Amino acid sequence: MIRFASLGSGSKGNATLIESGENGSDTRILLDCGFSVVETEKRLLRLGREANTITAIVLTHEHSDHVSGAGRLSRKYNIPVWLTAGTAHACKDTNYAEMNFIDSHSSFAIDGIQLHPFPVPHDAREPCQFVFSDGASRLGVVTDLGCYTPHILRCLDKLDALLLECNYDRSMLLNGSYPRSLKERVAGHIGHLDNQHATRLLQELNLSKLKHLIGVHVSEKNNKREFALDALCQGVNCEKEMVSLASQTKGFNWREIY
Ligand SMILES: [Zn+2]
Ligand SMILES: [Zn+2]
Repeated sequence: MIRFASLGSGSKGNATLIESGENGSDTRILLDCGFSVVETEKRLLRLGREANTITAIVLTHEHSDHVSGAGRLSRKYNIPVWLTAGTAHACKDTNYAEMNFIDSHSSFAIDGIQLHPFPVPHDAREPCQFVFSDGASRLGVVTDLGCYTPHILRCLDKLDALLLECNYDRSMLLNGSYPRSLKERVAGHIGHLDNQHATRLLQELNLSKLKHLIGVHVSEKNNKREFALDALCQGVNCEKEMVSLASQTKGFNWREIY
């Protein structure tokens, strides 16, 4: 069984918990840590977990909304960190309790959880995203990508659960208040995924096993929750009951796949 929950998702901070084991206590991975230590501790408690029970911190890329609390949390609780060499090179604070390098084309395991990394087009040094598995069920997490590649689609096929970036509505971004350079960055091939491309990505996948689809990294300025929800519903043939969104303040509560 895999359990997962979000501490919060959006441009102000991202962190996701992934657990395996029947009582949820066997392996506990914190994927990204874009909140301060105090805030991370608070949000973990909201989900019924304490920071000293985290097995590992895994980082997707060096942007501060994903790593700002990682170094301090790792030192305070002696938690090992996994990241690509490129991400380590680009991070300001890499004085971790322990540092392990990820090859973004090679699967590896952290205790009871298998991790299948894959590279994504995003404006960071060596960004990767992951499929997590306990051998029976599979969870895909894709929070930051400018566009999708055939390799990404192969990695995300036949998942049981997917957290997918649904960052912005194209016309809201283009007509919004961001300076032109930032609009171009977000909308570019190595920026973020908009609602329409989230729909298209889903339409390319075999979704026969999918039970949970959660939109993540939803912009508070350039998107509306109903637009993002509509885009995801459209991508899964309007099976609304499996679709939801993560929020910046609350993330989302525990889900299970088995
Ligand atoms: Zn990013
Ligand atoms: Zn991000």
